[in-house]
Amino acid sequence: MNTLISKCKEARKPLVVAGCVPQGSRDTKELEGVSVVGVQQIDRVVEVVEETLKGHEVRLLTRKTLPALDLPKVRKNKFIEILPINVGCLGACTYCKTKHARGHLGSYTVDSLVGRVKTVIADGVREIWLSSEDTGAYGRDIGANLPTLLNAIVAELPPDGSTMLRIGMTNPPYILEHLKEIADVLRHPCVYSFLHVPVQSGSDAILTAMNREYTVSEFRTVVDTLNELVPGMQIATDIICGFPGETDGDFAQTVNLVKEYKFPQVHISQFYPRPGTPAARMKKVPSTIVKKRSRELTSVFEAFTPYNGMEGRVERIWITEIATDGIHLVGHTKGYVQVLVIGPESLLGASAIVKITSVGRWSVFGEVIETLNTVPTKRTPNQENSSACCKSYASYACSNEPEPCSCRPDSCEAQLTSEECTVSKNNSWIEDRNSKNLIGWFLRRRRNHVQKMKEDGITPRLKKKQIWVLGNMSEWGIIDRALLGGMFVSFSIIIAVVIRLGFRIMSSNES
Ligand code: SF4
Repeated sequence: MNTLISKCKEARKPLVVAGCVPQGSRDTKELEGVSVVGVQQIDRVVEVVEETLKGHEVRLLTRKTLPALDLPKVRKNKFIEILPINVGCLGACTYCKTKHARGHLGSYTVDSLVGRVKTVIADGVREIWLSSEDTGAYGRDIGANLPTLLNAIVAELPPDGSTMLRIGMTNPPYILEHLKEIADVLRHPCVYSFLHVPVQSGSDAILTAMNREYTVSEFRTVVDTLNELVPGMQIATDIICGFPGETDGDFAQTVNLVKEYKFPQVHISQFYPRPGTPAARMKKVPSTIVKKRSRELTSVFEAFTPYNGMEGRVERIWITEIATDGIHLVGHTKGYVQVLVIGPESLLGASAIVKITSVGRWSVFGEVIETLNTVPTKRTPNQENSSACCKSYASYACSNEPEPCSCRPDSCEAQLTSEECTVSKNNSWIEDRNSKNLIGWFLRRRRNHVQKMKEDGITPRLKKKQIWVLGNMSEWGIIDRALLGGMFVSFSIIIAVVIRLGFRIMSSNES
């Protein structure tokens, strides 16, 4: 961030810095002379930009009421809505800078969140990610609680399973008393059976030093209960290596915990003292030891093979992204296992039945058998609002699940014809697969790339210029370049052969 700020200052560009860092570290030297807008004033960003463009420096950092949930937004992925359910938390972790920025817990009401969920489903969103510093603490400041919120949201999800809910990160303390209700929600077919529960350390002594307000045994209760009550449950966790005071014995307990549970995802970080936090004043573990522990834990974790045995399984997945290789589409199973499939872009926003063909360390590969819930290409406003409903939803619906389906026949049948109901085989995928070849794939890839540049507001000509000016061809993958090179060489050989043949014919005519 500091590098970007320096670049902008050197180029004498008007600059606004927003988010946690200016809020939590307002006196940072780099922020001098720059407009800043804090996390709770983000709804005034237009004002700040306008004033900055006039040459004024604006600083809006005071805390006020929660920003509105329905501020205009451009989604990074149009199929995914990231919905904050609260700001701040009830914790006081000794290493945490976020708390300085986000402050004490401030929860949105259940009604306002449910209203937002209805709106984004009507917008065509296919995944709703609830986000929070600590999801488990939701509502304690307003007399509500997490199960109440989750049940209210789940009741609004389309019963054809076209929109999935992902519950955000939760610390163990506040979720403990609601574990059974949370498990009920996680079993719902429209909710990913996935939870991110950061443990940070496998040693109670270190958890106390971190002021995490739970013990390893309580963390185990969370994981064991959810694993027992939710089929296919996946739990991700975080570990901080080398927290001040961490002994070899403490670290060994962490390694043993990770080995025991074989978490499919572990975010491993090395302790870094954040200025102004209590942990920054504690005696540090030497950095060589911190790095060694981090490497050791990483190699323990990377040796796991969490997806072995999935080959041949048939799973339903929800597809929302194009993989960074530009070839595969990315979907997730109900347990939030990442599945890479090859298919047309019309599968984005759809769900599909896939057969798992092979597994890797971080994801699995699948073959699409059947496509469900494709995104209609043309929609009337009326259809937008009713896309959740489908006459034949029953075959994939929530009927055998604890929560009642919210799709009422009276509201469904009048609005969608059976042709619009997309719980069916997708012939375009089969056609696309039949017409798949290397040149076709290459052209599709280039077309996607150009399309993406257009969406980013960059014309291909400008982008090309930028790439060459910067001497950076990273936008062209190695396969692109090899293919282009191959085509160029083949073309040159053909031209040379034609010219040579021409000369021969001419010389034989002359003789
Ligand atoms: S690390 Fe602790 S203090 Fe920081 S946001 Fe999370 S719960 Fe709150």
